[in-house]
Amino acid sequence: MRVCYFFSVIMLMHAYICFGDTAPFVISEEIMGTTVTQTIYGPHADKVAREASSRIREIESILSFHLPASDLSRLNNHAGKGDIVLKPETMYNLQKSIYYSGLTNGGFNVLVGPLVKLWKVTSPDADIPSAGQIAALMPLIDYRDLHVNIESGTARLDKKGQMADLGGIAKGYASDEVIAIYKKRGITKAIIDIGGNLGLLGFKAKDTPWCIGIQYPGKDRGNPACAVYLSDCSLSTSGAYERFFEKNGKIYHHIIDPSTGYPADTGLLSVSIIAPKSIDSDALSKIFVIGADKGIALIKRIPNTNAVLITKDKRIIVTDGLRHKFKLIAADDFTVQFK
Ligand code: AMP
Ligand code: MG
Repeated sequence: MRVCYFFSVIMLMHAYICFGDTAPFVISEEIMGTTVTQTIYGPHADKVAREASSRIREIESILSFHLPASDLSRLNNHAGKGDIVLKPETMYNLQKSIYYSGLTNGGFNVLVGPLVKLWKVTSPDADIPSAGQIAALMPLIDYRDLHVNIESGTARLDKKGQMADLGGIAKGYASDEVIAIYKKRGITKAIIDIGGNLGLLGFKAKDTPWCIGIQYPGKDRGNPACAVYLSDCSLSTSGAYERFFEKNGKIYHHIIDPSTGYPADTGLLSVSIIAPKSIDSDALSKIFVIGADKGIALIKRIPNTNAVLITKDKRIIVTDGLRHKFKLIAADDFTVQFK
């Protein structure tokens, strides 16, 4: 979990003590290759959580890059062979991915799949690929070769070997779907956390927002560097410390710079984006690839969207919109810059 979730749970318990609220129902499971934690207040929370879990599993079965029978794998296996009919979930995520690939000038790149497969950073036998292996794949990594046709519900990949990977957006989408289930079932107060993609429903207590800690990169889980006060929105964090392997003293992490073929190295350790929807905050957290200056400039142009960036040189860069919602915790180690 990238975000120090325990922090908000502690706050919730506090709210319980102070306001006589009922204790939340909390459940953690492994789905979509990550930890999914639901914290739900109100009656029938266990039943609602089960419904949400099955929806997340269903989304995984449709959008997984790794499951051979997923809808996404059907598209990837069909690369270079023309249009293919896909499920609405796949179409929606592909369409959003193309949008964010363009908006970030290819920093987020939905066709990064062949590089993700080559680097396989989460596998126990992960190793640095040769320069030749990377170079051979680069002609495939062009998101403009993915075409979606919403009217016909079809998509196509122009070249054989091309692969769409929704790993940088689908967990956010799943988090939005869970929030929709909570609302449909009458829940007014809950948190869903899918591997660092948080959906926050309602307030911690009357007029009191949730306090969400942001992980101190490199420290054990549960050590926040800072925190933000939020309600009814989403927060997604992408961090270099999240999935990686180490070779000859160097870290090789899971966020790939599609312009070089190597893990992104822009002086950032983590990017947290706060936005109304998690599909957007998840995709936008890949400004990790374009670095702090371009990333912050982009976020400031998007309405209702803010960012907290933690840099290798111990700065925390925060967009102005969070000025009154931000709290520095590791004050001895970091300086804060509002932009
Ligand atoms: P996240 O879990 O949100 O940090 O996203 C990281 C995941 O997104 C990786 O495990 C890949 O599946 C995928 N990914 C890696 N690099 C990129 C990129 N430049 N653009 C889009 N997706 C990426
Ligand atoms: Mg994410």
